[in-house]
Amino acid sequence: MQELDFETLAVRAGHRPTAEAEHAEPIFTTSSYIFTSAQEAAEVFQGERTGNIYSRFTNPTVRTFEERLAALEQGEVCVATASGMAAILATGLALLEAGDHVLCSRSVFGSTVKLFDSYFKKFAVTVDYLDPTDLDAWRAAVTAKTRLLFIETPSNPTMEVADIAGLAAIAAEANAKLVVDNCFCTPALQQPLRLGADLVVHSATKYLDGQGRCIGGAVVGDHVTVGEAVRGVLRTAGPSMSPFNAWVFLKGLETLSLRMQAHSRQALQLAQWLASRPEVRKVYYPGLASHPQHALVRRQQSGFGGIVSFELADQAAAWRVIDATQMLSITANLGDTKTTITHPATTTHGRLSDAERAAAGISAGLIRIAVGLESLRDIQTDLQRGLESL
Ligand SMILES: *Cc1c(COP(=O)(O)O)cnc(C)c1O
Repeated sequence: MQELDFETLAVRAGHRPTAEAEHAEPIFTTSSYIFTSAQEAAEVFQGERTGNIYSRFTNPTVRTFEERLAALEQGEVCVATASGMAAILATGLALLEAGDHVLCSRSVFGSTVKLFDSYFKKFAVTVDYLDPTDLDAWRAAVTAKTRLLFIETPSNPTMEVADIAGLAAIAAEANAKLVVDNCFCTPALQQPLRLGADLVVHSATKYLDGQGRCIGGAVVGDHVTVGEAVRGVLRTAGPSMSPFNAWVFLKGLETLSLRMQAHSRQALQLAQWLASRPEVRKVYYPGLASHPQHALVRRQQSGFGGIVSFELADQAAAWRVIDATQMLSITANLGDTKTTITHPATTTHGRLSDAERAAAGISAGLIRIAVGLESLRDIQTDLQRGLESL
């Protein structure tokens, strides 16, 4: 079989037309499936024969999405989940037990920290939070109980970049698994499994959908960890993806490569423009040569992504620029065709203490933009109004 390129897999992987010969992927809205005989039912239930039983376990539309995303991440298996957080929950439930230790980047999604600190902690799992760029700190923090290393790269909102291959080596030595939340880059720009990571988790809600319509998630990795352990959690505990959402995400994947290239192109131009503005103190974007890990970014990513953060003098200046926009959406979501603007210190990272926010580098003057696909000129005009009023 011919080896297919990313763009081809994004459009075609996983789709096998039924007897109806449909060209587009169908949506199977069915909770259960019928058998031709009692004998067949018994065999499928006992795993002697493959087949669908119940849509909490498997569903053809969801399976098409899983096969397509697995192909794009170059993983053996993908398991789709009801949300990005359900993907992280299922991964933890599959891999951790009481007494285990987790090393987590200190720059991860807020609900991920809450999941570890409020819920996994109840089952005696301990977590240490580390600077994602300081490999020596990770090496030093490993204990005999360390089972999982968890990162996001680039991180939200300050765009710190973690060395995936370097952390994969530390994980391998510790007999632990490296999990990468690949939400910001998507496989179109970064394939962590190829760099040595063991598992990739996704919030499909963001760029995989790409148009802000559905909540969903996924875990990608090997047959044993994902195909058996994570799938087992999904079958039993039930945070499965709905077939309708899977179909929306399939349509999203078809344009993923084009969209990520366009988001990256627009974000780089916006970052360069912001860096030239006298009101802007600092711009955080992996594509700028001034980014502290720019060389690593160029090795590890094939594009820079759509998120740009920048710092103004203080909170009053940040709010003034946000409130002066007429087109941009003031919302915490990202990965949409519509550009969104966020004040992290008072929203997504508002629950952190001042000291935690300072450690994460999130100042009161920081603004995060998820650059959409409107005309760049219109995005700039919308921001310029506020900047000129400062
Ligand atoms: C949004 C997000 C999540 C959580 O995903 P949901 O689909 O909202 O549950 C996890 N990680 C990152 C990086 C995210 O941006």
